[in-house]
Amino acid sequence: MKLDDKILLPDSGYFKANLHCHTTISDGELTPEGVKEAYKAQGYSIVAFTDHDQYRWHRELDDESFLALAAYETELTDFETGPGCWPDQKTYHLNLFDTDPTQNQGEKAKSTRPPRLYGDMASLNEYIAKMRELGFLVCYNHPYWSLQNYNDYAGLRGLFAMEIYNHGCEHDGLYGFHPQAYDEMLRSGQRIFALATDDNHDRVPFGDPLNDSFGGFVQIAAGKLAYQNVIDALIAGQFYWSMGPQLKGVRIEGGELVVQTSPVEKIFVIQKGRDCYKQLSNPGDALTEARFSLTGQEGWFRVEVRDSHGLYAGTNAFFVDRL
Ligand SMILES: [Zn+2]
Ligand SMILES: [Zn+2]
Repeated sequence: MKLDDKILLPDSGYFKANLHCHTTISDGELTPEGVKEAYKAQGYSIVAFTDHDQYRWHRELDDESFLALAAYETELTDFETGPGCWPDQKTYHLNLFDTDPTQNQGEKAKSTRPPRLYGDMASLNEYIAKMRELGFLVCYNHPYWSLQNYNDYAGLRGLFAMEIYNHGCEHDGLYGFHPQAYDEMLRSGQRIFALATDDNHDRVPFGDPLNDSFGGFVQIAAGKLAYQNVIDALIAGQFYWSMGPQLKGVRIEGGELVVQTSPVEKIFVIQKGRDCYKQLSNPGDALTEARFSLTGQEGWFRVEVRDSHGLYAGTNAFFVDRL
């Protein structure tokens, strides 16, 4: 089956975003204003403020080159096995991104948490459905740090995305990168996107190798820096995740998948099954473009690249039946 020509990701019009961030409102070191200042200086246009169980809309921070997304992070911890802070307790952390902060303000301000029923997937999915109805996009965060495995995340439903990379967790124990969890969630039938985030708390200063800012981000092809445009682009999957490399356009052309990127060593196309298309540079060289013949039998596929520093970037999964 030859796939029609289509632009999967544009070559420009992106805004750099950190969609996971903690401030002095919860357990972060920087004020919301301090976060804005630091991220703007690093070329970011968007930050989602996801303080723990503290829904906030920092519209006072918005200006012509910066947009604050209303959000919070909540959790469901396995209280059967301890008080909620033991290092071996499993926990679900979810980010909730508000699609329209002018709606349902009173209800959202309650920062509702999931019921304390760890292991009851039905009640957790009910919570996710309720939050969606209220206007949130729900993201499943850092499975590796949370000590979670397939049994904990395969049954989740109604998610918008999961965190394929969490920079703070990478610093905690080199457990920030979760491509396997993303693929397993896709293979369990979830049609979700993938985010790279900082989850910054900034407990050590900028410049220190353990500072947790500026390591995981998404580039959102919103066209215009306005709340609704950014949300529409997120819902449509018009973004890619990265630790550093920049994707410069992904398209289907004449039955081929064409990938353009900043210089990288490896370009892989991971699929629903075991097959994987790949192009690698010779040692010391770099690739900026690759073309792969598509069969139309891939089920879903996603592009992942790796540069000479070992940093990854990639697309969301594209489902062949929707192309
Ligand atoms: Zn978390
Ligand atoms: Zn967090």
